Amino acid sequence: MNLLDGKLVSSKIKEDIKQEAAAFLKAMGRRPHLVAILVGNDGASETYVASKMRNCELVGFESTNIHYEEDITEELLIAKIKELNADNQVDGLIVQLPLPKHIDPERITEAIDYRKDVDGFHPINLGRMQRNLPCFIPATPYGILLMLQYYGIDTAGLHAVVVGRSNIVGSPMSILLARNSSPGNCTVTLTHSRTKNIKEEVLRADIVVAAIGKKHFITADIVKEGAIIIDVGINRESSTQTKSGYKLYGDVDFEQVSSKASWITPVPGGVGLMTIVGLLKNTLDAAKGSVYS
Ligand code: NDP
Repeated sequence: MNLLDGKLVSSKIKEDIKQEAAAFLKAMGRRPHLVAILVGNDGASETYVASKMRNCELVGFESTNIHYEEDITEELLIAKIKELNADNQVDGLIVQLPLPKHIDPERITEAIDYRKDVDGFHPINLGRMQRNLPCFIPATPYGILLMLQYYGIDTAGLHAVVVGRSNIVGSPMSILLARNSSPGNCTVTLTHSRTKNIKEEVLRADIVVAAIGKKHFITADIVKEGAIIIDVGINRESSTQTKSGYKLYGDVDFEQVSSKASWITPVPGGVGLMTIVGLLKNTLDAAKGSVYS
């Protein structure tokens, strides 16, 4: 078994981003700037946004966190997004999901200027991604591609099974792995909660991408010998053994599955760290105008 080490890869790529940010500052007289909007007080969302802000600072980006109370109206939120769309000191703009029930996430996503949509959720970016055109790729799938690329894993011709079809992970991942690109050129099966015989599907996979949100859903008995295993899941359980008061588990039973896998990501220390890298790279590209000029 070989480890797909998110800690190692993310720190190397962040070092490159840091150098590029310094060059950008020298040339443009300002830093790449990411704005994150957070609505409400969801603990996990607060942690994710804080980590994004911290990582921006680490690589020399400017970062702004705008925090609204749970009861902000959709209209006010959209008005703020439009203001930030027009602000040429803002390169990347993200709205942390999930949003409170009274706010339609689709309307919010579409309100963001696609040229600042560094989460890659806007339909224009998703459409361009499907057609293999320059675009912002959603951060988690992007991070996974960067990791496969770093380790020189040739995915051409492999059968990939993606478990979970969310707009932010599973669906874009299935498109990216199927594209005529590298990494890519896989034969892809996209599975979800209505898939019949999911275990048989996973058992046929050369690459499994697990993005379900269920602790240890992928067990050794449903994994083919030598498969590449990408675990996106982050499942929190309270724990008295950690300082934070909780422990993270993946969607894959790492201990069992690692003895069969050729490559595997750990949780924590895998895809989560690469997601941040995907976001940072998109923000740098937005600042440099290298995707949309
Ligand atoms: P969603 O809840 O949006 O989607 C889960 C998907 O899994 C759905 O498509 C659902 O199917 C499918 N699913 C649920 N139960 C089953 C089942 N029993 N069998 C087959 N499919 C099932 O989740 P996300 O994609 O947002 O996140 C998935 C996991 O990844 C979570 O643990 C999340 O915390 C984590 N995550 C981690 C990130 C990282 O950076 N590492 C980034 C984003 C997410 P259906 O569509 O039919 O309901």
